Amino acid sequence: MEKVKYKNLGRIVLWIAAVVAIVAVIIVIVRGVTRGGAGDDVASVADDTTVVDVVAGDTLSKILSQYGFNGNDVNAIDRVLRDRAGISGLRADRDKIEFVRAGGTDSPITKITILPGPWRRVELTCNDAGVWECNPVDIERDVRMVYRQGEILDGDSFYLAGTRAGIPAGILADVYDLWAFEMDFERDVRAGQKFSVVYEENYANDKKVDNGAVMVVSFDALRGNVKMYRFRKADKTVGYYDPNGNGAIKSLKRTPINNAKITSSFSTRRKHPVLGFTRAHKGVDFRAPTGTPIPAAGAGRVVARGFNRGHGNFVKIRHNGSFETLYAHMSKFAKNVNVGTVVKQGQIIGYAGSTGMSTGPHLHYEIIKDGKHVNPMTVKLPAINNLDAPNKQRFMEYRQQLDAKIEALVNNPDGFFKMND
Ligand SMILES: [Zn+2]
Repeated sequence: MEKVKYKNLGRIVLWIAAVVAIVAVIIVIVRGVTRGGAGDDVASVADDTTVVDVVAGDTLSKILSQYGFNGNDVNAIDRVLRDRAGISGLRADRDKIEFVRAGGTDSPITKITILPGPWRRVELTCNDAGVWECNPVDIERDVRMVYRQGEILDGDSFYLAGTRAGIPAGILADVYDLWAFEMDFERDVRAGQKFSVVYEENYANDKKVDNGAVMVVSFDALRGNVKMYRFRKADKTVGYYDPNGNGAIKSLKRTPINNAKITSSFSTRRKHPVLGFTRAHKGVDFRAPTGTPIPAAGAGRVVARGFNRGHGNFVKIRHNGSFETLYAHMSKFAKNVNVGTVVKQGQIIGYAGSTGMSTGPHLHYEIIKDGKHVNPMTVKLPAINNLDAPNKQRFMEYRQQLDAKIEALVNNPDGFFKMND
């Protein structure tokens, strides 16, 4: 009895469901016909956005004409970009251009946005009168300082230990740049040494976008703790200073190529690897594969660029004061570096090689002081950018604040602090 009753009930439910489904299909078809088909429901069509990465050989006019803009539009956009946003020309592998079609894929372009990096967007729109308008927008940066600490283990390089401590490669490269003024990574690094780095992480809307500057570095070197702080002077220029406010950036780098192994040290007597007999080694040799870029150790003027039998291709730079530096065995010179060229510290002057009297690719680097060769690793180098009394006082106050905030992070490794709180 009960079973039969349920069986009939199930059948009825199925029938009702089928009827409802058929009616629903009929309603949809009828609506479609009366409304003249699909595609007029504009409100639900999303903006169509195309992002173009600027590559070598691209120009603004080339990209714009690819997207259907005529010469008049291209000229107008070019002008308004220059006048309102200071943008003239695009940079390959850096800039992006965004094209937005508010009406969807098949509609005309309603907005062009130039993206020169993650912190700025320049929006271009054409008003009803056909005039292009430009609106540069700075994206607000939420800067968080993070603290990472590590220790050199047996057989470690600073690079390995730094990576293990969670320091990103780009920040490590900046740390190397700073320490190249103070340290010899070959001889100064030992198991058990501790180091720490404070650097900026840039956030937008609670999402990390990129890393910023190195704020503080500290390393327990053999001759004691080396510490440097980034500080902005009253005139807005930025530099690195030791805890007493002395300039940490020296006029020359002891190691022009970061993280390069020393294969031969400065000495007044050594057996020459090619000539066989004993003679002085007037510089330091750094292992460097052929083609490794060689940066100028300091700012100065190129006073020699040429070839001789011993040095192979070499460049000599005269720096401020009494110093000169020489770079030998280059495979080639950098373009636009000639006798008389004024170079900046870190500017690439040539590429490592094995020209001249050399047993393999390396950089032979000399520092000459008052006409006499000196040991690049030990010579006392003058600091540039020292602080005057008012700036020094500001620095000491700033350093105290910074130290207190860092202290609070030592036991809270996942935390961060802000300097403008
Ligand atoms: Zn050498």
